[in-house]
Amino acid sequence: MAEKRDYYEVLGVAKNATADEVKKAYRKLAIQFHPDKNPGDKKSEEKFKEVNEAYETISDEKKRKMYDQFGHAANNMGGGQGPFGGGGFGGGFDGNINDIFGDIFGDIFGGGQGRGGRRGGRRPRTGADLETQVDITFEEAYKGVEKVINISKRTDCDTCHGSGAKAGTQPETCKVCQGRGEVTFQQGFFAVSRPCTHCHGTGQVIANPCGTCRGAGKVKKNSQLSVTIPAGIDTGQRLKLSNEGEAGEHGGHPGDLYIVVNVLDHDFFRRDGAEVICDVPITFVQAALGASINVPTLDGKVEMKIPAGTQSHKVFRLKSKGLPHLGRGGRGDQLVRVMVEIPSKLSAEQSEILRKFESLEKDGKSHPMHHGFFERVKRIFD
Ligand SMILES: [Zn+2]
Ligand SMILES: [Zn+2]
Repeated sequence: MAEKRDYYEVLGVAKNATADEVKKAYRKLAIQFHPDKNPGDKKSEEKFKEVNEAYETISDEKKRKMYDQFGHAANNMGGGQGPFGGGGFGGGFDGNINDIFGDIFGDIFGGGQGRGGRRGGRRPRTGADLETQVDITFEEAYKGVEKVINISKRTDCDTCHGSGAKAGTQPETCKVCQGRGEVTFQQGFFAVSRPCTHCHGTGQVIANPCGTCRGAGKVKKNSQLSVTIPAGIDTGQRLKLSNEGEAGEHGGHPGDLYIVVNVLDHDFFRRDGAEVICDVPITFVQAALGASINVPTLDGKVEMKIPAGTQSHKVFRLKSKGLPHLGRGGRGDQLVRVMVEIPSKLSAEQSEILRKFESLEKDGKSHPMHHGFFERVKRIFD
């Protein structure tokens, strides 16, 4: 969980702000982030809660004093109840904030919303985000590809259009909580709210459930989606398809769908970002004499020159033969690492020629590394 922000910072007021200044600052922020003004926006909802929590403390002289002295630690003092009892402090929005809210906003938001319960079930709620993985080949990552994705998601039931009630009937307002979705009871001096168990916090009871979705209002449906996967994409990168997640509730936005890309291994290409890496075996004769070899690239075969005296594992760079840079034109390079292969089987004639080759070596001139190394060893150990 993120660190709790300083309450004064949350409200945007100075530490010595007057009660009036605090009230003004709160009023402004609460209007800005009020859920009724930002339906389905989780960020605003969080802000709204944060602002309310801060206001609940700073607007109360006693709590403010405690907070000034102990900071957020005041929350945890005195065990579960906290120093202020009733879970009011820090409990913030979940506590009796509606009362405070009512005091200030009765005239602004009170009318339309009524006591229908801002915590109750009818507030728009954003649908859940979904995530699915898609495999693509190395070549598809290079060129980009259109993929059809099968996805199973909860969507509004066609029979009842998401209400959950049988055709011709309506969900009824819960009688226990009067549709608020929560019940408030007195604990000592404090009003404490709990989600209503009768309607499971939705504020509604379905007397005649829809036969198709059995009252849930939602059914699992398979759907197909076509996704354009951009050239240059790499394993683990995600594409976001807005509003393709699960359906929202009570008019809320659908969630988003995330496609996680997995690029399958290639026979001889690897990658490091936009660079393509390829190991190419060459013979020791090619390495010694120099050669022109055919190297595979994403664009087909390319001729590459190897100079005489090339050592094993030397890396050559083929400019702009790699993968596209995602989101900013141009391509990476291809790195070709030559692997000198020492013959593992020789005919009698080949052996003879190599022995002759060896005998013609003069003062280690053909193999300076080998020669130099053993010269140094000799100096130290002999
Ligand atoms: Zn239904
Ligand atoms: Zn209820």
